[in-house]
Amino acid sequence: GIVVESVSKHFGSFKAVDQVSVEIKSGSLVALLGPSGSGKSTLLRLIAGLEMPDSGKILLTGKDATNQSVQERNIGFVFQHYALFKHLTVRQNIAFGLEIRKAHAKKVKGRVEQLLELVQLSGLGDRYPSQLSGGQRQRVALARALAVEPSVLLLDEPFGALDAKVRKDLRAWLRRLHDEVHVTTVFVTHDQEEAMEVSDEVVVMNKGRVEQIGTPADIYDNPATAFVMSFIGPVN
Ligand code: ATP
Ligand code: MG
Repeated sequence: GIVVESVSKHFGSFKAVDQVSVEIKSGSLVALLGPSGSGKSTLLRLIAGLEMPDSGKILLTGKDATNQSVQERNIGFVFQHYALFKHLTVRQNIAFGLEIRKAHAKKVKGRVEQLLELVQLSGLGDRYPSQLSGGQRQRVALARALAVEPSVLLLDEPFGALDAKVRKDLRAWLRRLHDEVHVTTVFVTHDQEEAMEVSDEVVVMNKGRVEQIGTPADIYDNPATAFVMSFIGPVN
């Protein structure tokens, strides 16, 4: 799992992440939910090692990772506009992380086919990114992130740029995928419905701080603060 212990990150005098503590259980799917500017991406980048905290600690799979590099953390990422390599096919994109780790060619081939199936793109392995829809591209990005068997998968609004219908389909698909793969996943969104529908637990953030952590049902039934109550909206 992931343990974030009293982590803070300032930009100048601005506290983007302010004394945040969160525990994410191994194998769970957790949403970081909050309005724009609440510190979600910064917290995700701190977990990834793309930013270093001013204070506090981050543990990954039981080990202190606070001073580890991105590479040492063994993390898979997908961002909203995760650029796939345009000059590489879907297969080559998925294989990329395995090849730079010098995996055996035969093994890579088998793994890529397995991943193509997992993200339901089996027929499209030879296409280039420009020949795919936005939703298909994000599934390739997910397959690429999963290829190296990361201990943690971090998704920053992976479906944010897609239209409502595709978003909804991918949301349900991500839940099913997670039920198959069980990799510890942190999913950033500012969409309440998305957080509630997809995740085992939700971390509600506001102004760099955690307002509440709980299951979707907990948060609906017992909003801990006025902010959570107004952000989640009326119970229906
Ligand atoms: P959004 O939903 O819009 O993506 P967010 O919750 O992901 O928002 P962050 O990107 O974490 O928010 O940013 C939190 C705050 O920190 C914002 O006010 C942002 O302007 C500020 N911030 C983030 N990165 C930097 C940086 N590198 N330098 C200065 N300020 C930054
Ligand atoms: Mg963000």
